[in-house]
Amino acid sequence: MEHDGDRHLGRLGRLGRHVPIAGGVADALERARAAGYDAVQVFPGNPKGWRHVPMEPEAAAAIRAEARRLDVRPVVIHAPYIINLAAEDELAANSARGLANALERAQDIGAAYVVVHAGSSKGASEEVGIARVARLLEGVRDTIFPSSLSSPSSPSSPSSPSSPSDTSTAESPVGADMATAPMAMTTRILLENGAGAGSTLAGSPEALGRLLAALPGTVGACIDTAHLWGAGCDLSSAAAVDAVVERLDRAVGLDRIGVIHLNDSAVPLGSHRDVHARLGEGTIGLPGLAAWLAHPALRHHPIILETPLEDDPAREAARCAMTRQLREGDVDGAAQALAALRESGDVPGPFDATAKTVSGSSGRNVRGTVEHRALPEGNVRG
Ligand SMILES: [Zn+2]
Ligand SMILES: [Zn+2]
Repeated sequence: MEHDGDRHLGRLGRLGRHVPIAGGVADALERARAAGYDAVQVFPGNPKGWRHVPMEPEAAAAIRAEARRLDVRPVVIHAPYIINLAAEDELAANSARGLANALERAQDIGAAYVVVHAGSSKGASEEVGIARVARLLEGVRDTIFPSSLSSPSSPSSPSSPSSPSDTSTAESPVGADMATAPMAMTTRILLENGAGAGSTLAGSPEALGRLLAALPGTVGACIDTAHLWGAGCDLSSAAAVDAVVERLDRAVGLDRIGVIHLNDSAVPLGSHRDVHARLGEGTIGLPGLAAWLAHPALRHHPIILETPLEDDPAREAARCAMTRQLREGDVDGAAQALAALRESGDVPGPFDATAKTVSGSSGRNVRGTVEHRALPEGNVRG
């Protein structure tokens, strides 16, 4: 409480969650807000497909207006899982287009970040994989920011209004009419750490650091606690969390982290698997998650939960409130809230393999857990 980090203490990062967009993005924003979240993450469309439907400017403006009205920010887009930034040939070309589409959607709806998995070099060396990611991102940048090639400081975009009366707003994105003017490209790409399976890149803090070191400083990091856990980073106690945060700071730099994905895990530490569980219902547990949330170096980062969404809005609101309790360091209170949720619902304890399924065909079909690949879009149907 004494040092000059104090100014951050009153400014907790926002708490959001991944929400399905089956009913539209505006509905997703509303749903998150109603549950008590003030940030949100969505897929740009089908997380498992390449299809991209351009958004009508009026629809995009309505979503941006709704996010402002509800004070939900940041809005985060999670790029489709089929993107592999470290791929070759056709998959690389599709991945570049997929990422560009996600960035376009982010600009449409005013999303500050596009989170994308670091990719897999599919048997090639890490060095080769990193070089492929760097080349692919450079290609995407040249597609999306053509002006950045010749004049990096120019705020103009190819579709900026050019009539004389619009000159001032075209030159000044801040003063532009958000409802009609194209926004300056303010969306930041964040590469997400993985659980270290096979030849996936960024499977440890150090590997993520090596990848980011080869990329422009504008590319940041998204850190997922369940992925850290799968990669063998112990997060189950305050001391363990301290050590991991120190590793992240050394390898990646905490300033480079844009968003944190806060998930419990349904699989063991170091399993190199990625199965999300609701907070307190997995292998990391409440004390470790509370230590992460309360860590002074992480308190002001926006948090996104990627845990299975409750069908009942009241129960989801209780999950949100419990997470805020956890953030205050009130582990006992959070544990009581969790026990009450268990008693009042038919929610089984963790790892009850006989329970109703929530995810699709992939992953462990255990209620309360969800394979990362089958995040809430599947859950909403399940
Ligand atoms: Zn992810
Ligand atoms: Zn994640």
